[in-house]
Amino acid sequence: MISLTMASKVYTGGVAALTDVSLHIGAGELVGIVGPSGSGKSTMLNLLGTLDRPTTGQVRIDNYDIARLRDAELSALRASRIGFVFQQFHLAAGVPALDNVADGLLYCGLRARERRRRAAAALARVGLAHRADHRPHELSGGERQRVAIARAVAGDPPLLLADEPTGALDSASGAGVMQLLRELHAAGTTVVIITHDREIADSLPRQVRMRDGRIIADSGPAVR
Ligand code: ADP
Ligand code: MG
Repeated sequence: MISLTMASKVYTGGVAALTDVSLHIGAGELVGIVGPSGSGKSTMLNLLGTLDRPTTGQVRIDNYDIARLRDAELSALRASRIGFVFQQFHLAAGVPALDNVADGLLYCGLRARERRRRAAAALARVGLAHRADHRPHELSGGERQRVAIARAVAGDPPLLLADEPTGALDSASGAGVMQLLRELHAAGTTVVIITHDREIADSLPRQVRMRDGRIIADSGPAVR
């Protein structure tokens, strides 16, 4: 469903964040990316999510070579196929949870009414139907992350990418968020999670370990 082939990323200024990384992730997998800070995890996830393009090498999503897509085509592919979750939630301040989720559907070509209907369904899916009117500052960290997950999955993307989704949470809230990500995986979504947490990583069916911009170990797709 998604693959990197000999992908490298050199940032402006000359930092080689990723070097010759090849990784194939199949539909329905649940994958953990682990490694020390600065090892290139976020860079790799951004390439997988088409938020950034590699300096050299190839990124394929559903057999599209993203280098061959124009920016508008890439945005459309991303909007329909990929949901993102970040450590710091990235919710709009002062905006009710329902609208935070509905606004994530702005580029799907749906009418406002349908966006709100789907947003309400996504909030219910993450157990937050009763918090739809709450603004981010009126929610706990764990609830904010669940709103962010609702926003990520409201358009039903087949792929969910999460960069340290429990990194800003206490362990109980983090466990709740992990449980939710597992449920989404069990319901058919392909899920890739960057984590610092050893226990979380060990609990995932496939682990990819990174160091100094390279993959140093990959337990491979789980046998089903
Ligand atoms: P991780 O997520 O594993 O902590 P990153 O992918 O964020 O690692 O970073 C890998 C390396 O690339 C680090 O040395 C980091 O400082 C550098 N880096 C990340 N983003 C940028 C950027 N936008 N510009 C320049 N260097 C960057
Ligand atoms: Mg990172």
